[in-house]
Amino acid sequence: MSYLDIKKELEQHQVELVAVSKTKPIESILAIYEQGQRDFGENKVQEMEAKYQLLPKDIRWHLIGHLQKNKVKYIAPFVYLIHSVDSLELLYEINKQALKNNRVLDVLLQIHIAREENKFGLDKTELIEILDVYEAKNPGLQNIRIRGLMGMATFSDDQEFIRNEFNGLRDLFRFLQQSYFLSDQSFSLLSMGMSSDYRIAIEAGSNMVRIGSLLFGNRTS
Ligand SMILES: *Cc1c(COP(=O)(O)O)cnc(C)c1O
Repeated sequence: MSYLDIKKELEQHQVELVAVSKTKPIESILAIYEQGQRDFGENKVQEMEAKYQLLPKDIRWHLIGHLQKNKVKYIAPFVYLIHSVDSLELLYEINKQALKNNRVLDVLLQIHIAREENKFGLDKTELIEILDVYEAKNPGLQNIRIRGLMGMATFSDDQEFIRNEFNGLRDLFRFLQQSYFLSDQSFSLLSMGMSSDYRIAIEAGSNMVRIGSLLFGNRTS
């Protein structure tokens, strides 16, 4: 599908597009940038940093892959949104680096919704632990803004199975909006859906999709 077709479809549903440019060269990113896209997602810190250096500075960089604590410092000066917060320790480190850079960093909490064990993400107990600390206005998190949730469905051909996982994440998101975040309108982002399942995700209530191969073609590496 062309960039403009995808963009149009998403706009009809008021869904934001993160163009996942991992493994893709600068020229491919620029081609979509020139059509108006500003939000790009990468899953590796080093690759994102290298591309940040080379590309226009109005690009909004989304870190969508697993983030190691010792690498937060490399992206803290410029990252726009971290989708993949999966521990309280990581959140403390992001806060520390945000402080150093005099920024407030926007993050999503990644929730483990898939059947696969190898996918990252918080379980309910870990989620509640983080929210309790955040809600208590813990000084260790004062430069963090939790903007919403992110999740990845199981890799499967079973549409109903995927739908169930997305619906579960949406229900959790709405529950948190009505409880922990009742007085915090900035908790508003639900990042779910990729090339293979973004339509199911949108039906389930996603408002931010992360699309790579459908836009850029299949990745060889
Ligand atoms: C690679 C990746 C995507 C995009 O996957 P496509 O199937 O290429 O659309 C989305 N989210 C995450 C976390 C990814 O790592």
